[in-house]
Amino acid sequence: MRLVLLGPPGAGKGTQASLLSDSLKIPHISTGDLFRANISQGTDLGKQAQEYMDAGKLVPTSVTANMVRDRLSQPDAADGFLLDGFPRTIEQAELLEEMLKEKGESLDAVINYVVSEDVVVERMLARGRNDDNEETIRTRLQVYRDETAPLIEHYGDLLLNIDAEGSVEDISTTTLDALDN
Ligand code: ADP
Repeated sequence: MRLVLLGPPGAGKGTQASLLSDSLKIPHISTGDLFRANISQGTDLGKQAQEYMDAGKLVPTSVTANMVRDRLSQPDAADGFLLDGFPRTIEQAELLEEMLKEKGESLDAVINYVVSEDVVVERMLARGRNDDNEETIRTRLQVYRDETAPLIEHYGDLLLNIDAEGSVEDISTTTLDALDN
């Protein structure tokens, strides 16, 4: 299955993705995790991404899309994947569509985790990652509203809306049930 996870920062996409990846036996591909791994390894890509991430802004799409293209071309992603954090803009969605089309592939579903802003701010402050301070959180939510939320309409028929305010287990079960139907 080829899936995209959507939702605001702090919606719990990463947590759900790990569980779904185990259940569905497809790799979890998180652009945030890939960037963070590059930063901790001190690669050029990490250096290019860091200042944007620290500010809560989007890393330029040219950089991000190349990284995703490379990752999707690895053998473990040949039969399916769970993309978390990409696409984040309409432009990225169009690039993803092209990447898949070149291989004769397409997305099966887009899971949209629906959660209020109050809850995501609370979750991010509790998580306390490097880029989880109040100012950066505000920027990331603004970027989400302006750039990422339009993807909800863009994906139309592929979209599965999942209430993401319950327990981790309930959300995971609801997601798997929605994919079954
Ligand atoms: P969250 O889900 O909390 O926003 P992520 O780990 O998905 O956290 O992303 C962290 C940061 O990595 C983003 O704020 C952004 O700077 C960068 N990033 C991740 N994915 C993308 C993307 N598709 N395009 C541009 N920047 C990205």
